[in-house]
Amino acid sequence: MNCLFCKIANHELDAYIIYEDDLTLAFLDINPISPGHTLIIPKAHFLDLEAIDQPTLDNLMMVAKKINIVIKEKLNIDGLRLVQNNGSFQEVPHFHLHLIPHYQEKPTYNLEQIKLLLKQSI
Ligand code: AMP
Ligand code: ZN
Repeated sequence: MNCLFCKIANHELDAYIIYEDDLTLAFLDINPISPGHTLIIPKAHFLDLEAIDQPTLDNLMMVAKKINIVIKEKLNIDGLRLVQNNGSFQEVPHFHLHLIPHYQEKPTYNLEQIKLLLKQSI
């Protein structure tokens, strides 16, 4: 299947990976809404919220909670939004969660610096 996020999950395509386990991968969004914008995906291909199975979704939410803690500790954020798009809202047709930090004063970290900061701590 020619799926962008399957290729990232299989390490066929590079990404700024900050967390990985048997079911789940987390990496920085290539076009971030704000510094630290993170995507959390199942390694297996599921299209959307309707298709994903419950154990995989539970694992993704566990990872979202872990990353939330580390982003709060390391990036000095003021708020954080959890987003999941389906259907006409969805650009990449492989299930993913967005974690989007909010800052009163936007920091100037680049993707590589954020990857190093978060990866060491998760
Ligand atoms: P959505 O509209 O929820 O499907 O969002 C897809 C997200 O994937 C967008 O925020 C894109 O910036 C992001 N994206 C697309 N290609 C890549 C990539 N190669 N690496 C990291 N993020 C990507
Ligand atoms: Zn896929």
